[in-house]
This record gives sequence, structure tokens and C-alpha cells, in this order.
Amino acid sequence: MSAISTKPNPLDLDLAGCESLVIALGFKAFHGRNLFKWLHKHGVVDFDAMTDLPKTLRTALLDTAEIRLPRILQTHPSADGTIKWVMELTDGQRVETVFIPEGKRSTICVSSQVGCALECAFCATARQGFNRNLNVSEIIGQVWHAARQLDASPTNVVMMGMGEPLANFEAAVTAMDIMQDDLAYMLAKHRVTLSTSGIVPNIYRLREVSDVSLAVSLHAPTDALRDELVPINRKYPLAELMPACKHYVAGDKRRKITWEYVMLDGINDSLAQAKQLIRLLEGIPSKVNLIPFNPFTGSDFGTSPPERVEAFRERLARSGIFTMTRKTRGDEIAAACGQLVGRVEDRTGRLGRVRIETHSRVSVR
Ligand code: SAH
Repeated sequence: MSAISTKPNPLDLDLAGCESLVIALGFKAFHGRNLFKWLHKHGVVDFDAMTDLPKTLRTALLDTAEIRLPRILQTHPSADGTIKWVMELTDGQRVETVFIPEGKRSTICVSSQVGCALECAFCATARQGFNRNLNVSEIIGQVWHAARQLDASPTNVVMMGMGEPLANFEAAVTAMDIMQDDLAYMLAKHRVTLSTSGIVPNIYRLREVSDVSLAVSLHAPTDALRDELVPINRKYPLAELMPACKHYVAGDKRRKITWEYVMLDGINDSLAQAKQLIRLLEGIPSKVNLIPFNPFTGSDFGTSPPERVEAFRERLARSGIFTMTRKTRGDEIAAACGQLVGRVEDRTGRLGRVRIETHSRVSVR
């Protein structure tokens, strides 16, 4: 890999940023709009091919800027139509992106960080450790590639790949703005979903600047259990998380929080816990996504039997909470929820520790 360029990358910029870039070079704002459109709507990443930009602007861009995209290193198709792409970043780190077709709909599951610094007990990405945040071009670059590969914009994007998007706030928000821009991928706001493990202050911040759909990885109805499964809960317990989520959807009757709840055999899947969950969600417009646990090498949780998942779902549904069981997609290519790993050079030095902790983790309810 050649030395990493420090020239500004237009793919890191939203529409206003592209306008400022060309204005700074002495050209008119509308050329910035055209630049933005070339990049995202037409997928053109060669300044010289942007034929409606003045030649002098193209030369100035060639001198001062550089378009850098992640590179698709591997393509793993699955029998159910799911595709996992392994993308290599300019510094050699790797992240994974998943394409999930569903009839006319198509969802792209996008990564926001190289690895993850949170240590959720049941997640493969957590085992990789954490290296760094992705920048805007690396996040939107995943959608860029998907749109080119599929010859169409996806209909939905979920920030549910590797990493915690609210721990990479600015880049995640800018990338999601680009996804929704009419000059780019034209996604409706309710078709862009950010999933968080519950970084409470940034849920409030997100509400200020964005109105994408919010999914929250809940996984447990009590602090005692959530502290173990989703350790960020020790910092932001349910008493803080729940009001933040309620605030996020307040004022718009159509909005609901999507709660993700991974079904772990004998850990969080009893009817008593379903009742606790019902009580916890009271007063918050909600839908629940039950996710059958996807095992990965070295994980020591089990998947709840389907009857237990169905009984849990039925109990929630009976109380009036819209509840779906998420179909596992792409598990044979390790593309299912919580199985994304990429190749991460961990910089936290905690990997040994995590391995030891897996043996002392709570295993009873
Ligand atoms: N960090 C964000 C984004 C990741 S989203 C978040 O936590 O929400 C990925 C979803 O898959 C999360 O709900 C996560 O908790 C869930 N998940 C992680 N590991 C899993 C596994 N092994 N099986 C099923 N779901 C898993």
C-alpha cells in the first residue's frame, strides 16, 4: 500500500461540503452540486469523467483533492441471496458490509468502525477488539459500492454492521445525510436506521440533528442482566436509556423505537422476562425484533429453541407490542447479526482479557 494521502477526499463531504470545496477553488456552488451528483448518483470517481465541470475546475480538483474509496476485497454470496463484502480500507484494515435482498426491498447493513470498543458478551465483532472509527467516505463508500454492484440504490440502510455508530457520531450522521440526499441515494428518512447499544448522550444529540429511525440493542429487561450482556449498561443504565429513547420518538406519532433482543438460550428468554420487558417498554412507542442468537467460533451461548422464541414473541404480541422474529440471513457466510469480523488490528490490548472473561460470565438467569 502506498503512503496514505492527506489530500481532502470529496467522498468525505456532504453536499454543502462539496459546494465549499469548489468555492474555495474559485468556482460556483452549483459546480459543487454537480460534483456531489457525479460521485454518488452516477458513481463516477474520476474527476476527468465529470464532463459538465469546467476543465479548469477538474484540473484544480486533480491537483488538490483525491477520491479514495474502500476496495471490495472479497464477495461472499449466500444461497439465500445475501451477499457479504469484505472491504479493504486505504490503511489495510478491513470491514464487512452485507446486502440482504427481500423481494423488492434491499437492505445494506453498513459498518461504522473497524472493530468495536464495546464488549457485548454475545457478539463476534467485540472479540476483534477496536482499531479506529471509519471516516465518512468509508461509511458512504460501502453504500456507493452496493449501489454500483446492484445497479440501483438500496431501499434501506441499517447502521448495524461492525462498530457502534453513536461512538462515531459526526461521521455516521454525515454519511446518513448523504444517504438521504436527493442528489445521492435518495433514501427516505424512515428507511435509514441507526442501531445503538445505548450511548445515551448521543441519542439526545442525534435527535437534534437527524430523524433517522432508531434501533436499540436492549437484550435484557433488567440492569442486572444487561450489565453482563451489554456492559455499556453499567455506564448508561436502563433508568437513563429508556427516557432517552422515549424522547427520541416524542412528538411524532408514526415513530417507534425498534428494540433488538437477541434470544440466548436460558439467559434472557423466559416468559417471566417477557413480562419484565413488557413493563419496561410501557409508555414508549415500540416494536421488538427478536434475533435468534447466531453462534460463532468461540462463543459459549446457545440459541433459544424456536418454540421458546415463539412463546416469547406471542407473549409480547398479546400485550399489544408489535413483535417480529428476525429471520437469520447469510449465516453460512458468517454475515448474520453479530458475526461480522473483518480484519482488525486491535489497539486496545484487551483481547486476552476478553477471552478469559468468556469463562467467568454469568450463565444463569
Ligand atoms: N453497535 C450497534 C450496531 C450493531 S447492530 C448496536 O449494538 O446496536 C448488530 C445487532 O446484532 C445488535 O443488536 C447486536 O446486539 C446483535 N448481535 C450481536 N451479536 C449477535 C449474535 N451473535 N447473534 C445475534 N445478534 C447479535
